[in-house]
Amino acid sequence: MSWRDYVRPVTPYVPGEQPKESKVIKLNTNENPYPPAPGIDVNAFRSEAAVAGGEGPELRKYPDSTAHDLVSAIAAYHGVEEEQVFVGVGSDDVLGMAFLTFFNSEKPVLFPDISYSFYPVWADLFKIPFKTVPLTEDYRIRPSDYMLPEGEVGGVVFPNPNAPTAILLPLDSVEEIISANRDSIVIVDEAYIDFAPEGSSALSLLPKYDNLLVVRTFSKSRSMAGLRIGYAVGSKEVIAAMQAVKYSYNSYTMNQPSILWGCASIKDDAYFRATVGKIVATRERFTKKLKELGFTVLPSSANFVFAGHPEVPASEIFAAARAKGIFFRYFAQPRIDNFLRITIGTDEDMDTVVSFLNEYLG
Ligand SMILES: *Cc1c(COP(=O)(O)O)cnc(C)c1O
Repeated sequence: MSWRDYVRPVTPYVPGEQPKESKVIKLNTNENPYPPAPGIDVNAFRSEAAVAGGEGPELRKYPDSTAHDLVSAIAAYHGVEEEQVFVGVGSDDVLGMAFLTFFNSEKPVLFPDISYSFYPVWADLFKIPFKTVPLTEDYRIRPSDYMLPEGEVGGVVFPNPNAPTAILLPLDSVEEIISANRDSIVIVDEAYIDFAPEGSSALSLLPKYDNLLVVRTFSKSRSMAGLRIGYAVGSKEVIAAMQAVKYSYNSYTMNQPSILWGCASIKDDAYFRATVGKIVATRERFTKKLKELGFTVLPSSANFVFAGHPEVPASEIFAAARAKGIFFRYFAQPRIDNFLRITIGTDEDMDTVVSFLNEYLG
């Protein structure tokens, strides 16, 4: 025997490539092309902290372990109680904590076969049994596939809109899944919901269902992937259960700049709506051009599109684009290996992509 036999066996999640070169068009990790709200700058941090603490940034002190200011800003934004909000280091942290807290039975957790590839990684890490549920032929989530006989489901998790398909599940279908699984927690991962039509979020279902947890992130729609802020909204009891697990692991997850700048982003709703609006407009424009080039494009409600060409393999387009400094995401995975996931950048970025494709497809 050796200590090597006692190491936890894991297969880590593989994030999209972060190229070293600066002169690339980076459309592979669903980042936002626009800067965060103008209130988010180092000087604002200095002066606000100076007011609060008397003498400049209070980085020598531990942050507020409850991140109260941020929790309170998020609660007010969504019109819920502060006790209904859990914040974490990106929604990956929040989702990981939710898996650890709620998926603690012998019964399998259900999620789509084509979905966020971190779900099976957490399930393996925490030794949670799971079952993947195939999407339909046209890459949709079918609610009836999540309706198993009572007592056979340990939990459900899915992104809405789904990733990497970008397809939105209508709210009445989301509700069918939640109401069919009232004995376990249903996590709706709304990383991209801000790019979907208003009224699509499961947040409106919270008063009806105490088994629902909605997870959100500042990484995509708020242009703050580098700060790492995510949150969950649920019933007070659900959130208290997550807090108990979090405080059993690491109390000080939210750093001071994230708390302050997260609040600044929430306060600037006009800027938020304007940037989201620009991305949605660019997405529609780009989708139209892709279709003119002969691409099949799944209907997107996110800040990316999932598209493939019937004659040219996606892997070849991916490699040719990369050689020109244009980064897409490609998954060499059954059913989706002829698709490219393309993040929506600025209009200028997308025009460059269209010219490249035009030339390449000749
Ligand atoms: C990007 C993404 C996340 C994680 O985002 P964070 O940066 O950790 O907040 C979670 N779920 C899905 C489906 C995503 O695409």
